Amino acid sequence: MFELDIEMLKEQGLQIMDTAKKTAIDIADKGKNQLELLNQQARLSKSQRQLGALVYSLHKAGEENQPLVDKYIEAIAEIEKNIEEIKAHMTPAERAEAEAAEAETVEAETEPEAADEEPIEEEADRPRGETKICPVCHSEVDAEALFCNHCGAQL
Ligand SMILES: [Zn+2]
Repeated sequence: MFELDIEMLKEQGLQIMDTAKKTAIDIADKGKNQLELLNQQARLSKSQRQLGALVYSLHKAGEENQPLVDKYIEAIAEIEKNIEEIKAHMTPAERAEAEAAEAETVEAETEPEAADEEPIEEEADRPRGETKICPVCHSEVDAEALFCNHCGAQL
């Protein structure tokens, strides 16, 4: 009985390993374009979030920093251009798959009913300590910031 269980476990273990291997191969097989698109889309949403946080904190402090806001807007425009270029190089099938995935993401993001309250909740829930140090002016900045809030250096 005991031996049988061992055999079963071994077999299951092998199956799990096979599945993991297969998943790794699937990911590797995914078009380079699709991975790059996902990468750029992640950068886009990160930049948009950073711009939103920047505008909000400037507004709250009654300050203005148009050059820094412009830098974010330029960076976002650049990423959007990259995304368009990647999509232009995709096969129709790849593009359809990517757009389906995009629609799913948007749906998931907009799903909660009280959309107005969401950013405030997110802000409060965010764990403290997600920061990094600007290499130019040594200010503490958000870990996801594209530019330093203090000196505007690209991070
Ligand atoms: Zn700085």
